[in-house]
Amino acid sequence: MAIVGAGHAGGRAASALRDAGWSGPVTLIGAEVHTPHERPPLSKEVLRGAKTGGDCALYPDDFYRDRDINLMTGTTVSNIRRSTREIELSNERLVPFEKLLLATGAEPRRLDVPGADLDGVHVLRTIDQSRELAARLTPGARLTIVGGGLIGLEVAASAMQLGCSVSVVEVDERVLARVAPAAIAEYVAKRHQDAGVAFHLNRTVTAIAGEQTVSAVHLDDGTSIETDAVLISIGVTPRVDLAQRADLAVANGIATDATLRTEDPNIFAAGDACVFMHPLFGFPIRLESWKNAEDQGPLAARNMLGADERYPSVPWMWSDQFDFTIQVAGLPGQAKTIVKRQLDSDAIAVFDLAGDGQLIAVSAVGPVGAVARTVRLGQMMIERRSYPDPEALASPSTNLKALMRQQAA
Ligand code: FAD
Ligand code: NAP
Repeated sequence: MAIVGAGHAGGRAASALRDAGWSGPVTLIGAEVHTPHERPPLSKEVLRGAKTGGDCALYPDDFYRDRDINLMTGTTVSNIRRSTREIELSNERLVPFEKLLLATGAEPRRLDVPGADLDGVHVLRTIDQSRELAARLTPGARLTIVGGGLIGLEVAASAMQLGCSVSVVEVDERVLARVAPAAIAEYVAKRHQDAGVAFHLNRTVTAIAGEQTVSAVHLDDGTSIETDAVLISIGVTPRVDLAQRADLAVANGIATDATLRTEDPNIFAAGDACVFMHPLFGFPIRLESWKNAEDQGPLAARNMLGADERYPSVPWMWSDQFDFTIQVAGLPGQAKTIVKRQLDSDAIAVFDLAGDGQLIAVSAVGPVGAVARTVRLGQMMIERRSYPDPEALASPSTNLKALMRQQAA
């Protein structure tokens, strides 16, 4: 059993192979020098100095030795030889496989403008990049963030908490356009503005200025933002090059069926890199979240050993910023009807209903205690393919659990 990509999905998959009773060889190969780890703290606790990179490890170092997992860190795979079932490392060494998992994750998009390679311009995906950015976030430092998505806003919150001043440049007319409904984004933007974050919406960057180190960011309306550091957080591209070179189907991700198997029965994919047929929605989706890596790594591992499990989960993600959290279950952004529900004075939920009235997403924002239950109940309703009455959903007096039971009856 071989796994390419020793990140979150890859690390969980290696462990799951042993949990499922596989006693033959397991090779886990990763380009990073760090052992498999979680990334969520990299834009939050690690940036703020409350955790180290080492605290993010999925397992202690001796776990791999104790479970006889051959972990090869700092090692890049350059090719897959499907006909002979071998993977080729960048040092030309060959590793044989019976079954192979591609858990190669995603790569931050770069900004193609003059000055994008200046010192002080950062992206954030790895422990090392988090440490480099953290070193810039000294009290009083001015940070400009390009991209008002999840990384952008989480880093904005962390940097404000560290005493920096923060500007966010977003190409869309609102933040979080990819991941959350407008009402949730409005709440989030207001909280950031109240904390002092300056937004430049509907704007693009035309150039980043500086001698050797960045000193300003120029926008398309002529605005110039003086700055000490820049974070480019404009989304990610799935790492599909290995699959592409091996002639596997690729469509905004490595294409798999609902069991995470590619068109080659010996090769599977999981995590950010994988676009899979979602059994509930009936069309292919690619997810970029902790929960997806957490679930898909083990599922792929069990299927590599001959199980035939389909991916069961309704997508779910969270984002912690300042003292509030955003939670989203399902697939927002495709609704015909949007229903808002006030949860308490400082928390709201938004339900997305498809054209036929089926609940397809629930999103909420506020203190974690105020949002978690609603999102969990909404997620269960999505799983059960519910068609809840919009008025009942909107009314704070409706008991959601009772509504869910009614739906099931
Ligand atoms: P990764 O964890 O990126 O692992 C892929 C690994 O493959 C990498 O280590 C890479 O080096 C390796 N690799 C790639 N190609 C090769 C090759 N050819 N040879 C060898 N190795 C290779 N999600 C949430 O739900 N909530 C959050 O709060 C949250 N916060 C986040 C904060 C940050 C800063 C980031 C970057 C992401 C965050 N996420 C969050 C998203 C979540 O971390 C990812 O969805 C998850 O890490 C994806 O796991 P993965 O295993 O698919 O990819
Ligand atoms: P993201 O969430 O996709 O957000 C990128 C944002 O940048 C979008 O709002 C996008 O707008 C905007 N953008 C694109 N091009 C731009 C440009 N040229 N100028 C200004 N804005 C631009 O991606 P991300 O924040 O970079 O995060 C990277 C990855 O980490 C994603 O996989 C994300 O899911 C993951 N992550 C997840 C969490 C979480 O789940 N809590 C936290 C951090 C990171 P458009 O949408 O209009 O293109």
